[in-house]
Amino acid sequence: MAQGFPDFTCHPELKNLVSHYINKDFNQYAPMPGAMKLREAIAKKTEKLYAAKYHPETEITITAGATQAIFTAITALVKRGDEVIVIEPAYDCYVPAIELNGGIPVYVQLSYPSYTIPWDELEKLITSKTRLIILNTPGNPGTSILVETDIAKLQAIAEKYSLFILSDEVYEHIIFDDFSHLSMARFPLLRERSIIVSSFGKTYHTTGWKLGYCLAPHYLMTEFRKVHQFNVFAVNHPMQLALAEFMEHEDQYLSLGKFYEEKRNLFIKLIKGSRFTILPSAGSYFQLLGYSAITDDSDKLFSKKLTIENKIASIPISVFYHDQTDHHVLRFCFAKSPETLEKAASILHRV
Ligand code: PMP
Repeated sequence: MAQGFPDFTCHPELKNLVSHYINKDFNQYAPMPGAMKLREAIAKKTEKLYAAKYHPETEITITAGATQAIFTAITALVKRGDEVIVIEPAYDCYVPAIELNGGIPVYVQLSYPSYTIPWDELEKLITSKTRLIILNTPGNPGTSILVETDIAKLQAIAEKYSLFILSDEVYEHIIFDDFSHLSMARFPLLRERSIIVSSFGKTYHTTGWKLGYCLAPHYLMTEFRKVHQFNVFAVNHPMQLALAEFMEHEDQYLSLGKFYEEKRNLFIKLIKGSRFTILPSAGSYFQLLGYSAITDDSDKLFSKKLTIENKIASIPISVFYHDQTDHHVLRFCFAKSPETLEKAASILHRV
């Protein structure tokens, strides 16, 4: 229940398509920005869902997972001495990439327990050196999402201080309770200054394939590709072709929110009555649980004890803060079969 990946299989047709393209001998380098068929499929999806036109030639690049897209985007944008706003708890690959490039992370914490962005506090941290702000919606590990009021504040700040935005939207299709994903792509003023990152791993239950993509206006994508070319050049070819064809089944990504909402609801139902506190989860495939009613142990110690003594693994949220802020909250991944969720819940009831 700790690491973020499904314990169920991807669609059989997707596996067959990969075999098909391997057997058809698409086993040499793909074009540097990615297979054109896949870039076209992404352009079509993005226009349909977010009413945003990204040109497949110049504004979409296929990457080795979102992780490479994030590293490449930060390398393209951040120079020595530049400051980058990092909102904590933050997914763990942002800060090392900033620091390796000589940038300076400037931290602001999401308000607890709502995990919403304190915009006034954030604005006070902006200086003449601030270059970039990193956003993550739906958030991992916060599980909150950006809403219209956030977009208005973000737009005002990004314009006022001429900031670039790196928007990590890997859980774009995993959003619950009839909320819509507010991609940067939807808002022309934000789109113009954003590099948006997504991941096929999250959408198609294929985290091990490490394939993702990046959307950006032409002038930013030009900079992104200058780094991408020497960072990775091109990524897995047969899988790109398989995904391009499989993306024609729109229902697969359109139904993903409901699919995971059912898992979230099942997990919550199963753990009701235990001594854990259930925090709201608006998106992603994680559920945060508070444990203040059980012990005063630090989250690291408690999660270690749960792993060793109770045989259930989770992630302590303090590891996503540079100063180890500890609200006594653990992260559980519910991208699991009903049997796994039942087993997990029965353990949690005994704690
Ligand atoms: N960003 C977030 C918020 C994630 O949760 C993950 C995966 N855990 C990634 C980026 C990386 O995605 P990928 O596996 O496609 O590199």
